[in-house]
Amino acid sequence: MSLADLRLFEMRHVAGLGPLCEIMAERAALGAPVTLLAGGTDWVVEQELRPPLEVAAGGPAAPPLVVDVSRLSDLRGISLSGDTLRVGAATTYLEMLRSDAIAARAPLLARMSRDVGAVQIQARGTLGGNLATASPAADGVAALAAYDATVVVQSVRGERRIPMSALQTGYKRTSRAPDEVIVAVEIALPAPGSPWYWRKIGARRAQAISKVALAGVAEVRSGRAARLGLGMASVAPTTALLPSVRALCVSRPLAELTGAEVDAAVAQDISPIDDVRSTRGYREHCARGVVRELLRQLGAQV
Ligand SMILES: Cc1cc2nc3c(=O)[nH]c(=O)nc-3n(C[C@H](O)[C@H](O)[C@H](O)COP(=O)(O)OP(=O)(O)OC[C@H]3O[C@@H](n4cnc5c(N)ncnc54)[C@H](O)[C@@H]3O)c2cc1C
Repeated sequence: MSLADLRLFEMRHVAGLGPLCEIMAERAALGAPVTLLAGGTDWVVEQELRPPLEVAAGGPAAPPLVVDVSRLSDLRGISLSGDTLRVGAATTYLEMLRSDAIAARAPLLARMSRDVGAVQIQARGTLGGNLATASPAADGVAALAAYDATVVVQSVRGERRIPMSALQTGYKRTSRAPDEVIVAVEIALPAPGSPWYWRKIGARRAQAISKVALAGVAEVRSGRAARLGLGMASVAPTTALLPSVRALCVSRPLAELTGAEVDAAVAQDISPIDDVRSTRGYREHCARGVVRELLRQLGAQV
């Protein structure tokens, strides 16, 4: 997208969340949802791929509205209150990498952030943008799924809380209404020192969208997984929450699990495709490998 193309959009700043929700409600009622410009790392790329605005289906009645939310204080900040971590939607990957609270209590978020794009994307891209775009390859969504996080959204109707398991409804589709802003995510933290896992497989170490990525957060007591949260990217139309793998791993002592039954559970939970980044077969192979690697780190002999 060139600078000249930006004239095709109406660009605005807003003073706070209240006025933003009002604008979003007005535009949604007209069938013209507002774009929120956080880091712009998904939206700008999408503009390159869409047909030119002037020729799109009769042309827009009014310029599409883009509101800059990157500095909106209601959407920013990382805070710890007891065992709950709250991360504002406009928090960048770099901010998560530099946060003491995240390093101490949710290190998976920092580790995941280090693997997103490269430093330029980490400095601009936000967790809210990752959740709203809801790509099945989204690394942030996979990490939040492993924490079974809650997405906090706001509209003129008030606040609503969406569990990660109810966020994605299809390929790049979410249960967020067009007039709802993602304000923050909240994580009910596992006990300090709980094991976690992150593995991203891409064509190279930076600027690579995941062929497969796995995020895991566990609580293990006396050789049993008391809790196992998982999120896998790029193996299904939405982030895979791996319910069969979760259920298998909490059902018996980890040492009793066999590789064959773990592989069978993985196969039930994923439906990868061939695309420009990888093949279905390689994704299946990697998915089995990363789940077994995670379980070995938890004490399983798989
Ligand atoms: C070179 C490159 C490499 C990348 N590498 C990775 C990678 O390794 N892993 C990965 O997961 N992604 C990657 N991405 C994708 C992208 O960087 C991330 O998805 C990023 O988190 C998007 O955040 P953003 O703030 O830039 O979103 P924007 O582009 O600002 O917004 C994207 C969409 O989200 C909506 N939105 C933004 N904020 C909100 C909000 N608070 N509430 C409601 N809607 C909102 C906007 O309206 C827009 O539709 C890459 C992108 C590029 C260009």
